[in-house]
Amino acid sequence: MTAKVAIDLALDRLFDYAVPPELEKKLSVGQLLSVPFGHRLARGFAMELSCEPPKEGIALKCVAAIEEPTPFFTPKLLELARAVAAYSAAPLESVLKAALPAAVVRRNARPKEALFVEPCAGRKPEEAGRLTKRQRWLYEQVVRLGGGWLAGLAQELGCTASVFRALERAGLLSISSRAMRRDPMAGRRYLPSSPLPLNDAQAAALERISAQKAPVLLFGVTGSGKTEVYLQAIARELERGRGAIVMVPEISLTPQTMRRFAQRFGDKVALLHSALSDGERYDEWHRIRRGEARVVVGPRSAVFAPVGNLGLIVVDEEHEPSYKQEELPRYHARDVAVLRGSIEGAKVVLGSATPSLESWMNARRGKYELVEIGRRAGGGTMPNVAVVDVSQGERGIFSRTLLDSIALRLDRREQAILFLNRRGYSRSMTCASCGAPVECPKCSTPYAYHRADSCLRCHICGGWAELPAKCPRCGAGTFDFEGLGIQRAEDALRKCFPSARILRMDSDSVSRRHSHDEILGMFGRGEADILIGTQMIAKGLDFPNVTLVGVLNADASLNQPDFRAAERTFQLLSQVAGRAGRAELPGEVVFQTRDPSVRAVRLAATGEYAAFAEGELKERREWGFPPFCHLALVTLASKSPQTAAGWAEMYSKSLAAYARGRDMKVGEAVPAAIGKADGWYRWQLALRSPRPGLLSSAWRWIRSCRPPPKALRIAFDMDAHSMM
Ligand code: ADP
Ligand code: ZN
Repeated sequence: MTAKVAIDLALDRLFDYAVPPELEKKLSVGQLLSVPFGHRLARGFAMELSCEPPKEGIALKCVAAIEEPTPFFTPKLLELARAVAAYSAAPLESVLKAALPAAVVRRNARPKEALFVEPCAGRKPEEAGRLTKRQRWLYEQVVRLGGGWLAGLAQELGCTASVFRALERAGLLSISSRAMRRDPMAGRRYLPSSPLPLNDAQAAALERISAQKAPVLLFGVTGSGKTEVYLQAIARELERGRGAIVMVPEISLTPQTMRRFAQRFGDKVALLHSALSDGERYDEWHRIRRGEARVVVGPRSAVFAPVGNLGLIVVDEEHEPSYKQEELPRYHARDVAVLRGSIEGAKVVLGSATPSLESWMNARRGKYELVEIGRRAGGGTMPNVAVVDVSQGERGIFSRTLLDSIALRLDRREQAILFLNRRGYSRSMTCASCGAPVECPKCSTPYAYHRADSCLRCHICGGWAELPAKCPRCGAGTFDFEGLGIQRAEDALRKCFPSARILRMDSDSVSRRHSHDEILGMFGRGEADILIGTQMIAKGLDFPNVTLVGVLNADASLNQPDFRAAERTFQLLSQVAGRAGRAELPGEVVFQTRDPSVRAVRLAATGEYAAFAEGELKERREWGFPPFCHLALVTLASKSPQTAAGWAEMYSKSLAAYARGRDMKVGEAVPAAIGKADGWYRWQLALRSPRPGLLSSAWRWIRSCRPPPKALRIAFDMDAHSMM
């Protein structure tokens, strides 16, 4: 017997080993093995077993050991991994690695133990003898929180561990050692939520999902009750003994979202979010594999979760760019979900208020079933959107219209969210005399000015520099700050409304002062009147008291050199607008723009997705862009500008020759929009074809016949999302 083994060396090939007779009965595909490789032992996954003896004259090395008897991958997951590797022209090992968190194979990643406090069921404080007022209060708090880690509770409630011990002796609390988890949701008992009676549109959607013949594109405005439909569709699968995966964009993995699933499905849920420690990840993954957790909620990598007997995969906000992985393997989790659904015979639901044009087109072609929910479920109405032209009259950071609307909210003690998609204080710092921007020397981009720490930061490489005293080009000493950044907007807002309580949320404030959840928690509890933030605040938030949403520069993202710029703008604006008026209070939205005639802004304001999609598709068809073809972007980067350009041009020519007679177009080699990043010069060429397989074979061909030198970093990005 021989085994083909995938070893994690990114060599993009499998290695053959002989299976010693004593292992033959125990070996199965998907297992982690150790095998001799060179002069050492390497670990790898058994991909295929074959009973044919090796070819005459070839002496194979033997598998050394089976590291763990239970396979890490089911045969179907291996099939999925192979398909993803083939489609995205990525080494199979890289896909296996992406599919399996590193912590899971590390035995020592098992979580440490820590003390967990929970109320004793059925005990009443009256039965516990005499309690002090403080003890009683503490007990009530533990009940309210549903228990928690001793250390965390002591901190949260401001007391020492001995107080809990006293309550334990009184028989009210139990304290036990458990596997430690950093997850704030861990171990807490949720007030269970029961299914809501569905409205007609929701009920129809649920039926269509349960009876689907093809993946369902669930198109429903924010607040239309899609999540409730997912929950009930999952419940149906659980009743039939099948499991489910729910993917949400990383940014929506908030406690609010997680709680909804935990409340409905309790212990059956595994939450895979980025804050998990290795130990927690180990734990959750093994709980899924053992079948204890039947519903998995997580970001894109959750698409590979080892859920057995999979019944349903939900991709919420399917249009979100975060589903595309930007490093090897460059897969799109929505597309992997559809693939996995067909391999495992599982239903697939892609939900969005603003579907990607790829999915919209797939629905029009009949590849997906389109299911619509037209209205908000909770009774809230869609907000009124005003488009304010700030190129005329209403100049400044805040238009009169927006200022009046904010003032009104402050008066009424309602809340407002303001949105500006640019970090820092200003986009760039330019010399007032010669106009030269101050640029990062390692990247070809201007520095952004961050006033809080009074320095210049590069948003590409993360580097920083002191403010220059003189212009590096002409020596003049005064500078202009161009392009509004969120810190400057915050300053201006504080000047306009000195008594308002203002919170800022962007990746700078989040990493330094408060966590994401802390800021949202404060805003949710009404401890601030205005939340100003970058796209971090655009999604998933549901604050009933927010009645105003303002977008400071609605057209900002339109100028990006990306064929999806208009689509992204439309999606972002629709999503932002969806934050207003989710409950009884009516909502108002203000889009400030320098060009109110722009289609993406105009139609996002009126909420006309279909009209936007039709207009945009017409242009894409004319220009020959996705979804009318697949586009793969090849990026070549080198420390030497000549090397990058030379290889890009040579690749472009060779591939153009290869493409002749094939249904494929090869673009010219061009410097990338970010022409230099972190000292690397970057060139690109785009390959387009209606047949994705042609693109990956072209790529495999050129890489084998013209292998790039080590000094060249090279990436093939199938269905590229980032065009920079
Ligand atoms: P979406 O996921 O489409 O944004 P949600 O499922 O979050 O929408 O629903 C929005 C709000 O409407 C939530 O507060 C939810 O509890 C409520 N809701 C959903 N379905 C119903 C229903 N059938 N009846 C009453 N309220 C509902
Ligand atoms: Zn830089």
